[in-house]
Amino acid sequence: MFPVSGEQIKYCKHSRLPTFNIVTAGGGGPFIRGQATDMKDDKTDAFSKLCLRLREIGTLRSVQATLSWDQETMMPAAAAEFRGEEMALLSTLIHRQFTDAELGDLMEAAGEQAELREDPALLADLREIRRDYANACKLPVDLVSELSLASTRGLTAWKQAREESRFEHFRPHLETLLDLNRRKAACLQDGDEGEPYDALLDEYEPGFKGSRVEALFTPLRRELVPLIEDLAGAPDRPDPAIHEQKIDVDRQIRFSREIARAIGYDFDAGRLDISTHPFTEGLAPGDTRITSRFQEAPFADGLGSTMHEAGHALYEQGLPKNEYHGRPLSEAVSLGIHESQSRLWENQVGRSRPFWNWAAPRAGEILGLEDPDPDSVYRAMNLVSPGLIRVESDEATYNLHIMLRFDLERAMLHGELQPADLPAAWNERVLSDLGLTVPDDARGCLQDIHWSMGAIGYFPTYTLGNLYSAQIWEAVRKEMPDLDARMEAGEFEPLLSWLRENIHRHGRRWPAEELGERVTGKRLSHEPLMHYLRGKLRPIYGLSGS
Ligand code: ZN
Repeated sequence: MFPVSGEQIKYCKHSRLPTFNIVTAGGGGPFIRGQATDMKDDKTDAFSKLCLRLREIGTLRSVQATLSWDQETMMPAAAAEFRGEEMALLSTLIHRQFTDAELGDLMEAAGEQAELREDPALLADLREIRRDYANACKLPVDLVSELSLASTRGLTAWKQAREESRFEHFRPHLETLLDLNRRKAACLQDGDEGEPYDALLDEYEPGFKGSRVEALFTPLRRELVPLIEDLAGAPDRPDPAIHEQKIDVDRQIRFSREIARAIGYDFDAGRLDISTHPFTEGLAPGDTRITSRFQEAPFADGLGSTMHEAGHALYEQGLPKNEYHGRPLSEAVSLGIHESQSRLWENQVGRSRPFWNWAAPRAGEILGLEDPDPDSVYRAMNLVSPGLIRVESDEATYNLHIMLRFDLERAMLHGELQPADLPAAWNERVLSDLGLTVPDDARGCLQDIHWSMGAIGYFPTYTLGNLYSAQIWEAVRKEMPDLDARMEAGEFEPLLSWLRENIHRHGRRWPAEELGERVTGKRLSHEPLMHYLRGKLRPIYGLSGS
């Protein structure tokens, strides 16, 4: 099956990490006093000083990102231990600089500057700086250290548990991680109302609540399940033969590079490498790198991963990093919006008929496909088939995988589901939602890395990305009536320019949902995604109506 995305959290580096997550146990070293701190020029106003400090912290983060990219692509195994020390030291330096009281004073002084009050973009910048600072200061360092340690141990235990398909081996670690996450949520909430889950979700999707996710997922699920059932019993199922053709990996890499370049990925400001799990890393201004993975069959796997990561990278390359390096205005607004950019290129473009009208002859030539007929390739790219594994699932059933994870992690965090009962709850849900029997925990509740690293509240952002991408796509189509013709001609620049203008260049200027509303003219809902899926899949499967 053509995976929606092979990436996992550890490898999905496209988003800024919350400041309080980058502190690691140990480390130390001197607190770097940089240029901004030493500056005694009274003419330099508080906001400029603040920006210089943030630029310095942003630069330290760039160094950290470069080490992290190297770790997953090039680094020899024997360097792992010292790399851990390097990373821990950088994390400590960054956290100390970011939670420094002087930074807080500069923020307050900057808030009083008259010219700032008249500039909405700078005000938004300051609002987000305050948010990050407040969150970073709420978490005691010892809790962060405990979480970091428990995540490292959890990850190790999970790897073994998954290998042996033995949930019991991972269970005590999951219990500890849930407990620490409850404490973390309590610190972040600081007496605020709302469920503990909200505080954790907020790290990945700022401003979003568990209840809002539920309100979006409930109707989505109600409409998605019957669609998938209809497709399963449909008369005209796409022929999967193309997914079985074995194709030389070097040819696939050449084809993927050509497609990435065609959709606008700037190779002069990035590069494409191979890694076990595809990811995107925005290292610095002018440096956004992607990785992908390829196997002889299906070729759609490597192509889909490349388009997905290139989509993330196009967002990173479109953020105003040169202008605002280190400041929120230069950063991605949320994981959901980030994911919308990857899904839009991977799915709305990469699984569309106009795209394959243009790409199929090239695929025939470069890949040596036996049957590069655009219609059959297009149909094969849109096969829907329930499976056990999230990262291998298709565009429609993928969302059911996310919903079950959201429900189960929320119930566990709130103590309504005990970790000991997780495998049974998981298997029951897979049977009822996907009609499949889970043969073992490795292909059940142990398949994903997220919980083992203590990431609770991350999963919903994948489906939020799908919702955003469908809604954004609807808006693009309205404003660009010739979009299909452009794509058929291999012209993707107008689409990219639209995304740059409406989404990328704004960074964190508006909260994610507000940005979505500004771009699409309406509040985020399940309807555009359902409309898109029905409108495409029913005709492919020979079903009438939408
Ligand atoms: Zn992604």
